[in-house]
Amino acid sequence: MTGRDPWQDARDRMVDTQIASRGVTDILVLAAMRKVPRHLFIPGPARESAYSDYPLPIGHGQTISQPYIVGVMTSLLALREEDRVLEIGAGSGYQAAILGTIAREVVSIERIPAVAELARENLARAGLRNVRVIVGDGTNGYADGAPYDAIIVTAATPAVPAPLVIQLAEGGRLVAPVGSRDLQELVRLTRRGDQVTRETFGGVVFVPLIGEHGWEA
Ligand code: SAH
Repeated sequence: MTGRDPWQDARDRMVDTQIASRGVTDILVLAAMRKVPRHLFIPGPARESAYSDYPLPIGHGQTISQPYIVGVMTSLLALREEDRVLEIGAGSGYQAAILGTIAREVVSIERIPAVAELARENLARAGLRNVRVIVGDGTNGYADGAPYDAIIVTAATPAVPAPLVIQLAEGGRLVAPVGSRDLQELVRLTRRGDQVTRETFGGVVFVPLIGEHGWEA
């Protein structure tokens, strides 16, 4: 018999008080957030705050998103178990772990090599085997793995990078924080044939997406 994770109570409390109570109802998302050991994705003393209601520093000037935002963005993707998913901005790897717990396969692109290495280590420690972290400019997507049923951008972009829309499968959903460097709103694009519909959700604040179809460094 394996011991019970001492962080499980904190994690259940996080889901109950920060995620479910604020309107996230997707049972796959709630189950994944109860399961994935978020504290393993946070370095140093900030780990103590792993289940708190705010973003945290992960080094290299980057942050792991507030749990609620992870819950909202993941549920906007409306994932199914058979889905193949692309993430732009691996960061700590936590969002990728949530995606990989729900969906079949995840590719996550990270611009900073040292951060990508961190994400890989965290994902391995958390036992995720269906997530691949690739170093590169994610604003170009990752054509080798396209098309994707879902694409999530976890850095702020002035507009949805065009290559990502092209790499979206029929019926595919894309979620991204779109706006200025200081404030963005969540945008969801859905592809149906040649039509791409656009919906907007609440305001958010992310670190910038830096690259060919994002911001300049
Ligand atoms: N999803 C992460 C948080 C993302 S923070 C998590 O769960 O922890 C945003 C990340 O996007 C940073 O690590 C940053 O280096 C990365 N990033 C910024 N521009 C990028 C680009 N063009 N391609 C890939 N990654 C990028």
